[in-house]
Amino acid sequence: LAGKLGRELGLPVYAVGGFVRDLLLNKPNQDIDLVVEGNGIALAKALAQELGGRVREHQEFLTSVVIFKDAKGAESRIDVATARLEYYEYPAALPTVELSSIKMDLFRRDFSINALAVRLDSTPFGQLVDFFGGQRDIKERVIRVLHTLSFVEDPTRCLRAVRFEQRYDFRISTSAERLVKNALDLKLMDKLAGPRLFGEFKHICDEDNPLACLVRMDQLGILSAIAPQLTLIPTRKALLQTLQDMLSWYRLLYFEKIPQAWLVYFLGLSHGLPYADTSDLFLRLGLPENKRGEILNQREQMRAVRGRLEAWQKRQNGQTSKVSALCEVLAPLSLESLLYLMAETGDEDLQKKLSRYITQWQHEKADISGDDLKELGLPPGPLYSHILRSALKAKLDGEALGRDAQLALAV
Ligand code: ATP
Repeated sequence: LAGKLGRELGLPVYAVGGFVRDLLLNKPNQDIDLVVEGNGIALAKALAQELGGRVREHQEFLTSVVIFKDAKGAESRIDVATARLEYYEYPAALPTVELSSIKMDLFRRDFSINALAVRLDSTPFGQLVDFFGGQRDIKERVIRVLHTLSFVEDPTRCLRAVRFEQRYDFRISTSAERLVKNALDLKLMDKLAGPRLFGEFKHICDEDNPLACLVRMDQLGILSAIAPQLTLIPTRKALLQTLQDMLSWYRLLYFEKIPQAWLVYFLGLSHGLPYADTSDLFLRLGLPENKRGEILNQREQMRAVRGRLEAWQKRQNGQTSKVSALCEVLAPLSLESLLYLMAETGDEDLQKKLSRYITQWQHEKADISGDDLKELGLPPGPLYSHILRSALKAKLDGEALGRDAQLALAV
């Protein structure tokens, strides 16, 4: 469709970046990025009209997003950019924008494997545009930069290089690895704004194997260049591995509630650090203030819960401890904190209990409901929640008498 519209409007249009890379790698990728030589916004508008969607324009950068509903009714987006030339006034600065061609657009990208395009308005349809050997590098499974100043221009590319290397089991080319080291020697990581770092870390945490990325970043010296506290000491590395296993375990269960992976890994990265160091670390990693507050709060909550858990376990040894009491202890914790506690504890029994809490106990409901109590003619009020809580408690502790008996008891 974009190709047809491009032809009609006389605008050369290309699919670019990750979409083309993954096409050649035979991997699924739903993120379509288009580049138009000429008026990208005009093409975006035409596309939105055909798709029954709308356009969000960023006139300043000549880019736009077409937002529309796909065949399944889900919201989809297509980014449409105008081919442009970028100047960087100094490393990591915001670009000034000027009109230019697809070659310049591709040249400003990070790696050769991401600098491929497919022309969509051409006949025959779908010519591959490969100025920088991207197709060869995909075949050779190598991450190569397009010029020697690439990491100076944008140090987040050091993290991106590792992410793609680990995701596809490629290798960073020897020269690119040397350039990463140069960038680190020049202390360029210090110049990187926090929010960009956070964005990249979040992407890493969403990979299938974030730990592999972190280990490689550690090996290349990227982690310690970002913040010395990040160095992967063995205990932290082992914990991160367990966290990754726990997340995989949880995802296999297909529960509706999806944990924020970055939060779990950030808890792991700050393992063993005092409060002040953790706060500094999260500041450096560019966490927005509300997220920093959230994660620090979760750490503090876990501290309190650890103490109560210990007390619960001691009682359990005396056989008097109840599941309902454990549920009360764990109730304030987020899913991310629960997964963290599960990974952190070396105690197998506690780990099992936590997993049952996550998968079963926390979702348990009393066998009777407020409607039942209403039907019995009980006046609505605080009594209801008291009765329902007691019924749930009894159920959790295996003391439930069955629905009818519980109702009778309520009366
Ligand atoms: P993913 O599969 O992780 O989404 P992607 O390649 O689509 O990978 P995006 O971050 O969406 O990643 O970027 C889209 C494209 O924009 C990339 O393929 C690359 O060409 C370009 N790009 C993104 N970030 C940078 C950067 N820091 N420097 C240069 N080019 C970049």
